Amino acid sequence: MLRVARNTLRLKRYSTATEYDLVVIGGGPGGYVGAIKAAQLGLKIDYLKGWGKITSPNQVAVDGLDGQQSTLNTKHIMIATGSDVSPFPGIEIDEQAIISSTGALSLSKVPEKMIVIGGGVIGLELGSVWSRLGAEVTVVEFNKAIGAGMDGEVAKNFQKTLQKQGIKFKLSTKNADGKVDVVVEAAAGGAQETLTVDNVLVAIGRYPYTKGLGLENVGVAMDQKGRVITDHEFKTNVPSIRAIGDVITGPMLAHKAEEEGIAVAEHLVHGHGHVNYNAIPSVIYTWPEAAWVGQTEEQVKQSGVEYKVGNFPFAANSRAKTIDDKDGFVKVIADAKTDRILGAHIIGPGAGEMIAEAVIALEYGASSEDIARVCHAHPVLFY
Ligand code: NAD
Repeated sequence: MLRVARNTLRLKRYSTATEYDLVVIGGGPGGYVGAIKAAQLGLKIDYLKGWGKITSPNQVAVDGLDGQQSTLNTKHIMIATGSDVSPFPGIEIDEQAIISSTGALSLSKVPEKMIVIGGGVIGLELGSVWSRLGAEVTVVEFNKAIGAGMDGEVAKNFQKTLQKQGIKFKLSTKNADGKVDVVVEAAAGGAQETLTVDNVLVAIGRYPYTKGLGLENVGVAMDQKGRVITDHEFKTNVPSIRAIGDVITGPMLAHKAEEEGIAVAEHLVHGHGHVNYNAIPSVIYTWPEAAWVGQTEEQVKQSGVEYKVGNFPFAANSRAKTIDDKDGFVKVIADAKTDRILGAHIIGPGAGEMIAEAVIALEYGASSEDIARVCHAHPVLFY
């Protein structure tokens, strides 16, 4: 938990007398970046290790890890408590055989066989890691495509690339049992199949973490998915309380939370702040990586805007040939009339780095011709 005060010289640790400007609950990417920004804007950064609970619109009680309890009076509160792994009904995650992303980062040996339930970001990233380390990995995905909403054409190609590396996929399939003998069946129902494995990685999403935060004490409004409802200034229905990151709507991405943390600090100090949700990149850190920003082709189609698509394979790129890493391609979608870039999608070596150029293009409202006319070094992967 972080708290930000104007004058810490007069602060006593755990004092209840000082009026803080801002108490940030949660020290993850959104919370700590927001607190740093608040400090840069003239407020000064303290750090309490413990559990924070909102007891009134201007008060937070802290249960310190050192056993001390304190009460902080504050003008503003920022909820930045993030998310937790969505449990799978009927499956108990023991972080030994049945694991979440946490357990998947600390397996003591490479499993011979691993089932990943959920072909989204975590499932693909960690499935790819263990597959490259030698495990036989099968990804069971409920939807027709992997990538949790990525561009359809890119998802198909991404799946082929990962299949070439040995990862198996069972799409439109769901888990039907809670044992390490995993029973799967078609998502629409049908014949069952048993897959016996060493580890099952459950990666079916995350949920907003607001447990024990005391939101009920102050009547903070939540939606049906348990997310805190905020306005464009990240204010909840209780004006002194704002929320950012995974506990509110939008993609559960660290960099999205960081942008929102900064925007809250700016709102508090300057009265304005800004996040461009159309220019937030997504990266799946597999090998090769997949990265995208802006709209998918499906979204553009649905919007009714006339569009054009440009595709370029890394197999025809001299840098990719030089480093012998030719899987993947770049896909750019632009408005057919104005040429303004609507979305960019990359599978390939270093896609997560390359996407930054497309993010800047989107942020500045560039056309695809603008990017083409920028002089890029030769040879590089993206130009
Ligand atoms: P996700 O939403 O990315 O993917 C979950 C997948 O599980 C979906 O494709 C869904 O269709 C599938 N699924 C749900 N129920 C299922 C079932 N019963 N059987 C089979 N498949 C099922 O969720 P995640 O991968 O758990 O990641 C959680 C969040 O964390 C996401 O929002 C993700 O963006 C974020 N995250 C991002 C990064 C990154 O930016 N690189 C890394 C880790 C996590």
